[in-house]
Amino acid sequence: MKKWVGMMLLVLLLTACSGASSVSNQEEQSKEEQKTEQSKKNEENEKTEKEEEQKDNETTEPANTTPAEPQYQLTGNWSFEPIGDANPKVALITIDDAPDNQGVEMAKTLKHLNAPAIFFVNGHFIDTPEGAEELKKIHEMGFPIGNHTYSHSSLPDLSQEEQKEEIIGLNDRIEEIIGERPKFFRAPFGQNTEYSKQLAAEENMLLMNWTYGYDWNQEYMDATKLADIMVNTDLLGNGANLLMHDREWTAKALPDIVQGLKDKGYELLNPALIKTP
Ligand SMILES: [Zn+2]
Repeated sequence: MKKWVGMMLLVLLLTACSGASSVSNQEEQSKEEQKTEQSKKNEENEKTEKEEEQKDNETTEPANTTPAEPQYQLTGNWSFEPIGDANPKVALITIDDAPDNQGVEMAKTLKHLNAPAIFFVNGHFIDTPEGAEELKKIHEMGFPIGNHTYSHSSLPDLSQEEQKEEIIGLNDRIEEIIGERPKFFRAPFGQNTEYSKQLAAEENMLLMNWTYGYDWNQEYMDATKLADIMVNTDLLGNGANLLMHDREWTAKALPDIVQGLKDKGYELLNPALIKTP
C-alpha cells in the first residue's frame, strides 16, 4: 500500500515537473505514466506468482534452488575466499573497458562456454544508442555490469565534483539502460581516492582491483601468448581475480583461457555469489 501511495506521489511530481509543456502533452504523459504504473503492477503480480511457484519448487526440488546467501568475499589482496564451505579453488573473470568493439562477442563466447564474468563498463562506450544496445545485450546474456567510470580518467586528477560525475553519473546512465545499478566498482588503472571509495560505499558497490592481467602489455597482444600466460602464470591461485579487456586478442584467447582454467581444476566464480555491501 505504501509503495502504491509512493508511486501516486511520483506521478503527481512528474506531472508537476512537466508544467512547462502543453496541456495535451501533459495528458499524454500522464496516460503514459498510468500505463507504466499498470504494467509495473502487472509485473509485480507476476513476480509474486513466480516467487510462490519457486517456493513450491523448493519444497519438492531443493537441488534446483539458487542460493540466497553470498558464498564468497573479497580479501585484502583483491582475491576471493569462501565464506563457508564453498569451493576455494575458483577464479573470477572480469572484462574491463567494455562494451567496445569486442564486448558483445566476448559475452557470447563466455555464455557459450558457460563461463560467468563481470563486465566493467565505461560511459563513453554507452552514450550512443548502439553502445546502449550492446550493454543491454551483455546484461541480457546474464552478465553483471560493473562501473569503470564514465570516461576512464585517473580519479586522483579530478575534483570531487568530477569524480561524482564519473561514478554516480555512470550508475545513473547504466540504470537508465538496463534498469539496475551496478554492484561492483573498479577504478581506471586501479587508482582510487578517499572520495571515490566513499562514493562506491554510498552506492553499495563492492570496490575491487584485480590479482593479475596481461592483455595490455605489448608482449601479450597475441591470443596464443595471452592464453598461455593467463593460465600458467605463478600468480594464478585460489580466488584469483583475473583482469582482461575488451580487446581483439583477448576475445580470441577467451576459449583457451576458460578451458585452461578448468583443466587446472578451477571453477569460474559466479559473481552472483560474491558478497556486496
Ligand atoms: Zn580500464
